[in-house]
Amino acid sequence: MIQSILSNLAIILLMHLFMSMLVNFRKELSAWIFRSAMILLVAGSVISMLYLPILFGNFALDLRFIPLVFLSYIWGWKYAFPTLLIVSIWRFFMGGDGALPGIIFGMVGPTLLALAFHHRAKLKGKYTEKLLLIIGCWFISDFPIIFIIPNGLEVFKDIALVRLFTFIATAVILYTFIALERQRRTLNEKLQRLAGEDPLTKLLNKRRFYEIIEGKIRCERLQHYIAMMDLDHFKKLNDTYGHVIGDEVLCKVARILKRHEQEQIRIARYGGEEFILYIGNESLEKASQILEEIRAEIEGTCFITHQEKPIRITASFGLSPIDENSHILESVNQADKNLYLAKKNGRNRVVTPHDASILRTS
Ligand code: GH3
Ligand code: MG
Ligand code: MG
Repeated sequence: MIQSILSNLAIILLMHLFMSMLVNFRKELSAWIFRSAMILLVAGSVISMLYLPILFGNFALDLRFIPLVFLSYIWGWKYAFPTLLIVSIWRFFMGGDGALPGIIFGMVGPTLLALAFHHRAKLKGKYTEKLLLIIGCWFISDFPIIFIIPNGLEVFKDIALVRLFTFIATAVILYTFIALERQRRTLNEKLQRLAGEDPLTKLLNKRRFYEIIEGKIRCERLQHYIAMMDLDHFKKLNDTYGHVIGDEVLCKVARILKRHEQEQIRIARYGGEEFILYIGNESLEKASQILEEIRAEIEGTCFITHQEKPIRITASFGLSPIDENSHILESVNQADKNLYLAKKNGRNRVVTPHDASILRTS
C-alpha cells in the first residue's frame, strides 16, 4: 500500500514540476496553448493514477481528486471543467462497477467543492479553510462507500483514518512545493524589476532602456527617435534648497514622464538630472510635439513650495532620429549635441535636427 501511495505522490509531484515549468514559460506561449497544456498535464496525471490504485483489501482507491482540487482551487473552472471532462470520459470507458461512483464522488464532487472556494484562493493564509476543503473532499469521495458496497460501513471505518491522513499529507506536501515555487518566482520577478529600475525615480535604468529599444529597433521597421532631456539650472536648485528637495523634484519630474510612457514611448533616467526618451512610430513633427507637451507640463508644474514660494523648474530637450544603419549610441550622441544647442539658446526648449541646422547657421 505504501508503494502505491508513494507512486501516486510521485505522479503529483512530477505534475507540479511540469506545471511550474509551464508557468515559467507562460509569457512565451499563447493563452490557449498554455491552458491546453495545463489541462492535458493534469488530466494525464489523474489518468495515470487510475492505473496505479492503492489497494485496501479488495478495494482499489487512489488520490485522483488531489490534482483536480488544486487545479480548481488555484486556476478556476476554465481549467477544471475540460480536465474533469477528459478524465471522466476516460474513467467511464475503463469500465467496472466503480466507474460511475468513482466519477461522481471521486472527481466531480471534490472539483465542484474546490471551485466554490476558487474566488478566494490566495494560497497565503487561511490554512483552516484549506484543511476543511481537503476534509470536505475526502468526505464527498469516501463517505458514499457506506451505501455503495456491501459491508460499506465496516470498510469505511477500516480505511477512513488512513485515507484522510494520506489526503491531508499529500495536499500539505503539494501545497508546500507550490508555495515555495511561488515565493521563488515572486523573488525572481522582484530582482528582475530592481535590476532594470532606477532606485530614486523608479523609471527604467539606462541598461534596461537600451535592452528594450534595441529589441524594438530590431523587430519594428518604423521611424524611431532618441531624445535627451536635462533639467535647467538644477545645480542652483540643489545649492539653494538642498539635495533632499532636489531629489523630491527629480521624483516628481519622473512621475510626469511616467504618465507619458506607453508602448512606443519609453523613458529612462540617464544619470543625474538627465533623462533619455525613445519615441517610435511617429513623424518628426509628432515626436517633437510629444517632447513639447512634456516640456510645457514640467514648466507649468509647481514642484514644491518653500517658505510659501512655489519652486518651478524647466527642462531642455535634444531630439535625433535613430539611423538603422549606425549604432544607437551615435543617435544618443546626436541628441546630446542638440540638447547642448537647446542649452546654449536659452534653455527650456526642444531642439530637433531641423532646428539644429537653423541654429548652427544663425
Ligand atoms: P544646466 O541648465 O546647464 O543643465 O545647469 P545645471 O545646473 O542643471 O547643470 P548640470 O546639468 O551640469 O547639473 C547637474 C546637477 O545635478 C549637479 C548635481 O548637483 C545635480 N544632481 C545630479 N544627480 C542628482 C541627484 O541624484 N539628486 C540631486 N538632488 N541632485 C543631483
Ligand atoms: Mg546635467
Ligand atoms: Mg542640468
